[in-house]
Amino acid sequence: MTTMRGAMFRGPGDLAVEDVPRPGDPGPGEVLLRMRATAACGTDAKIMRHGHPRLEPPMVIGHELAGEVVAVGSGVEGVAVGDGAQVIAAVPCGECWYCRHDRMTVCPNQTSMGYQYPGGFAEFMMVPAAVTRVDGLNIIPAGVTHAEAAVTEPLACALNAQELVGVTEGDDVLVMGAGPIGCLHVRLARAAGAASVVLADINGRRLERSAGLVAPDASVDLSADPDGEVLADTVRGLSDGRGPSVIITAAPAAAAQEQAIALAAPQGRISFFGGLPKDDPFIRCDSNIVHYRELMLMGANGSSPAHNRRALGLIASDAVPVADLITHRFGLEDIVDAIAAIGEGDAIKVVVEP
Ligand SMILES: [Zn+2]
Ligand SMILES: [Zn+2]
Repeated sequence: MTTMRGAMFRGPGDLAVEDVPRPGDPGPGEVLLRMRATAACGTDAKIMRHGHPRLEPPMVIGHELAGEVVAVGSGVEGVAVGDGAQVIAAVPCGECWYCRHDRMTVCPNQTSMGYQYPGGFAEFMMVPAAVTRVDGLNIIPAGVTHAEAAVTEPLACALNAQELVGVTEGDDVLVMGAGPIGCLHVRLARAAGAASVVLADINGRRLERSAGLVAPDASVDLSADPDGEVLADTVRGLSDGRGPSVIITAAPAAAAQEQAIALAAPQGRISFFGGLPKDDPFIRCDSNIVHYRELMLMGANGSSPAHNRRALGLIASDAVPVADLITHRFGLEDIVDAIAAIGEGDAIKVVVEP
């Protein structure tokens, strides 16, 4: 058996780079990649610590994927050896009612790279036929690095959320949570023509780091504003007193979701982008505010192949630059350090380069 180096998850707290089976020649519909960049995110940190109900160990993890094509299976069109390739994380079935009606993010038969199929924290990764069948492999355009392309997947998730709440020209947007996803939301909202975009966070250090890059003149440090009065004044000041027409909560915090409902303008659209902890997913919602102000509360669950395609296009055209958001790079052997860096205040996007 030929082996390669790969980050094997064997159970909560047990992730290590070891010799793992190297994928062989691609079968029909498959594409073999030499991994060049796999970005790490909070989900990887969660998996490492607690596991994941849909992930059966042992498994090579890593789901924000970019690599170089080294072999192409039969029946795969438009992909050649030497191409750069970006790959979806969530793999819809392509056949159910939701998939046939352009609602692939809520496909009930969804599988995922790094969950059911070996992921990208490894030297090589086989793109399964289930991915190419739904057009989930995108050729990386000239001028886009593999590291930038690896940020496509989280950007695609942000794009799905902003399309669902219809961020458009003239919107006053508040993004709560200044992690990597919050940064992507700020840039995406600007690219959509938002009139104002405010970034807020309870972690002053994280906010300072992120706001310096994406929102130098419109951020609110909630650690210095526990009652949210400065935030309320700031967002109302930018919108003639109405409040944000769009609020995106990019933080796993009930308080942020409750604050969003309180702050939203009449007919405001709220995206609960960040999920809440499974053991306490409840919020207190003044339903009359939702009723009388005609608020729209919307969830967001990953991204579809089409979102990935559009997100890679936004990176390539520089409509949403991401290079400066990649603050930390690690080799594969340092995967545990890479995942530890995610939670630290000075990291925005962390990329592993196998
Ligand atoms: Zn991720
Ligand atoms: Zn489906």
